[in-house]
Amino acid sequence: MQELTHYIGGAHVKGTSGRFADVYNPATGEVQAKVPLANADEMAQAVDIAAKAQPAWAATNPQRRARVMMKFVDLLNRDMDKLAEALSREHGKTLPDAAGDVQRGLEVAEYCIGAPEMLKGDFTDGAGPGIDMYSMKQALGVTAGITPFNFPAMIPMWMFAPAIVCGNAFILKPSERDPSVPLMLAELMEEAGLPKGILQVVNGDKEAVDAILDHDVIQSIGFVGSTPIAEYIYGRGCSNGKRVQCFGGAKNHMIIMPDADMDKAADALIGAGYGAAGERCMAISVAVPVGDETADRLIEKLVPRIEKLKVGPYTGGNDVDYGPVITAAAKANILSLIESGVTQGADLVVDGRDFNLQGYEDGYFVGPHLFDNVTKEMDIYKKEIFGPVLSCVRAQSYEEAIGLAMDHEYGNGTAIFTRDGDAARDFASRINIGMVGINVPIPVPLAYHTFGGWKKSVFGDLNQHGPDAFKFYTRTKTVTSRWPSGIKEGGEFNFKPME
Ligand code: NAD
Repeated sequence: MQELTHYIGGAHVKGTSGRFADVYNPATGEVQAKVPLANADEMAQAVDIAAKAQPAWAATNPQRRARVMMKFVDLLNRDMDKLAEALSREHGKTLPDAAGDVQRGLEVAEYCIGAPEMLKGDFTDGAGPGIDMYSMKQALGVTAGITPFNFPAMIPMWMFAPAIVCGNAFILKPSERDPSVPLMLAELMEEAGLPKGILQVVNGDKEAVDAILDHDVIQSIGFVGSTPIAEYIYGRGCSNGKRVQCFGGAKNHMIIMPDADMDKAADALIGAGYGAAGERCMAISVAVPVGDETADRLIEKLVPRIEKLKVGPYTGGNDVDYGPVITAAAKANILSLIESGVTQGADLVVDGRDFNLQGYEDGYFVGPHLFDNVTKEMDIYKKEIFGPVLSCVRAQSYEEAIGLAMDHEYGNGTAIFTRDGDAARDFASRINIGMVGINVPIPVPLAYHTFGGWKKSVFGDLNQHGPDAFKFYTRTKTVTSRWPSGIKEGGEFNFKPME
């Protein structure tokens, strides 16, 4: 049995707490490694090392820090296949999807190469007589991030790339479900030239997280995961005086107008609803066709496409559409929500409950499901399922459709499919959701824009990556300096007012 490590002070370090978690291969249900769960002492050691290393790193000029990112991007490209394989083995997603996970993180590292420009600051020449005013963006010190299982490459990079390029040290507490890729990323950053101790990976669970929340030296915390934990981390982190940003769960609606291209809408829903087994915070889990006629046409297009989906392990060939979910507990939760949908009266149009994959009976595979006539009161509508389950809620008008999305507690992403520019503009302008797609089902913004939801999908005020990341990982210091004139002419003995 492989025993994974922490990555502290530039070396793989064995856990000393005596506590471990099992890391599964979700396709087979086998335990393939054990990951150490750090205690507060192990976390404190990493913080000490980070605090010692950080001032010299912050004093390294931004161009040199950016060059580490440049090299890191090269190394990610070099090791793309290796990273994708390690990611699929622990997460279960297909290899192309795993490579996409790395790629979307790589793009943020690429954006961070622009750090010298982003960190330039502002200068006002002559704010008053002999007075100049300038603002500097300085590193915070030791920062930390806590990440979810579903994007084990992308989300750590969304945090550590901007944190580090801004001159901070960063401690990553990745998901204990799939910790191998984060460890590999830390090694690659050092190979790219990062000094030891600037990026460390401390594996663990709640105990390690609480140690981060309560450590005086840690200045900021980034979190991505489920909403209840996001709320907890935001509350405790803020009350301990830290800068905190937390990104939580989602229930993303896609509205299909009667004039939409129904084939395109159905194709989009298949990818966005079932891709990565629905384990994406930007997955579409609710389809809202406007009018019964639209709904009937949509269901007719969806059913054969869903029935054709190929579910299998990442080793199962290029035509596998999605893999297993992450754990047996996740599978049980998804299946129990499906049962609740049936008992609460939704129509299970595609029933994947008896799905079974020969040779992988112990894997955590869930067949695709489609519910029609779902209503607002049902648990499958209210809760995030995080599985391959699409719910169709029929709306009788555009107003009812937009109202549904607006009234839902989550506000991560949403989409509208239409040929009508007026409806699309109205939707984009009125909707109270952070990321909006117009004929685009998963509107994940690119690295140079920012990523973040609204409502219960976020706690904090700055988004991830893009210019917001440079704000989150720096403090502004504004200097007002006055150099009175006249010094050149020798001493002046009369006290003169400012001219
Ligand atoms: P999770 O909340 O269970 O875990 C996230 C992190 O929190 C992990 O590192 C975990 O170790 C830690 N954690 C878990 N329980 C904890 C506790 N009681 N106290 C302190 N720390 C704890 O989330 P997950 O299952 O890994 O990820 C799936 C969730 O993440 C979904 O809800 C999904 O929508 C959300 N997500 C959101 C975004 C976004 O940007 N909004 C992106 C990806 C995933």
